[in-house]
Amino acid sequence: MSTAPGTPEAPGAARQVTVRVPAKVNVQLAVGAARPDGFHDLANVFLAVSLYDRVTATPAAPGELTVTCSGPYADQVPLDRGNLAARAAELLAARHGLSPDVHLHIDKDIPVAGGMAGGSADGAAALLACDALWGTGASREELLEICAELGSDVPFSLVGGAALGTGRGEHLTALPAGTFHWVFALAHGGLSTPAVFREFDRLTEGTPVPAPEASPALLAALAAGDPEALAGTLVNDLQPAALSLAPGLAATLDAGLGAGALAALVSGSGPTTAFLVPDPETAAKVADALEASGTCRATRTAHGPVPGATPVPT
Ligand code: ATP
Repeated sequence: MSTAPGTPEAPGAARQVTVRVPAKVNVQLAVGAARPDGFHDLANVFLAVSLYDRVTATPAAPGELTVTCSGPYADQVPLDRGNLAARAAELLAARHGLSPDVHLHIDKDIPVAGGMAGGSADGAAALLACDALWGTGASREELLEICAELGSDVPFSLVGGAALGTGRGEHLTALPAGTFHWVFALAHGGLSTPAVFREFDRLTEGTPVPAPEASPALLAALAAGDPEALAGTLVNDLQPAALSLAPGLAATLDAGLGAGALAALVSGSGPTTAFLVPDPETAAKVADALEASGTCRATRTAHGPVPGATPVPT
C-alpha cells in the first residue's frame, strides 16, 4: 500500500467515506438577460428534496482516479474526468498539493440531465468524501469556493435546506422553510441546460428582460410551510424554453394538475416536471395518475427541505 500524502495513512484520514447528497427543485427560477460573458443573473430559490445519490470514496493506487456508478440511471453517467465527482477530487487535491488518488463510486438515484442537479450533487458529495478520506480538513469556506468553481448549483448541493441563490445561483442565503411534499415526473430523454438557456435567449430576443428578483410572496409561503400559498407563487422563467424544446411536457403538467396537484412546473431546465401536493397521500394519488397517463417515463415522490451533503456511516 502506498504511503504518499492523500492515502489513508495521512493524519486524520479515513479508510472509506460515504456521503449522501440530495436532489433539488427550484421553487422560483427568475432569469435575467444574458450577460456579456454569456451567463445569466438568476434569482434561484432552491429546495433540497429527499431523492439521494451516495458517493463513496476509497483509497486508490498512486496516479489512479477512477469513477464507477450503479443505480437505475448509471448508463447515462460519464465515468471519465468530466464527471463532476472526479473534477471535485482533482480540485481539492490540487489546492492541497496532493495527487488525486481515489476511487469514487456513485450510487445514483437522482435522474440524470433532469434539472435536479444530480451531477452537482455528486460533485459536492465527492468533495466532502475526499476531504474526509485524505484528512485535508478544508474549511467550510474553502469547500464552498471549490463548489462554486465546479458549477453554479454545486454550492447548494453542499448546504441543502432551502436557499436563495443569486449571481449565477452560487451566492447563497439560507431561507426558513416548512416541509413540502412533491411528485416528480421523469421524462423520456433529457434536456441540456445550456440548450435551454440558449432557447430562453432566442425566445426573449428583442424584449426587455427584468432583473431577476426573489418573490416576497413566495418567500413568505415557503417560511410559513403553506402549500396552498406556495402553489400560487411557483415560477420558472425557463419553463417556456423547456416546453419549446420538449412540447410533450405540457401534457404531463396537465395530467398532474388534473389528478389533484396544487401546482405544476418544470424543474430547473427540465425535462423533469415537479408537482406540489398537500400531503403524502395526495402525492401517491398524483404519482399513480401520472404513470397511468402515459405522459412520463416514471414518477418519484419526495419531500423537502432536507439537509445537504452529509457523511453517512458505512
Ligand atoms: P442541473 O439541474 O444542475 O442543470 P441536471 O440535473 O439537468 O443539472 P445532471 O444530472 O447534473 O443534469 O447531468 C447533466 C450532464 O452532466 C449529464 O448529461 C452528464 O453528461 C454530465 N455529468 C457529469 N457528472 C455527472 C454526474 N456525476 N452525474 C450525472 N451527470 C453528470
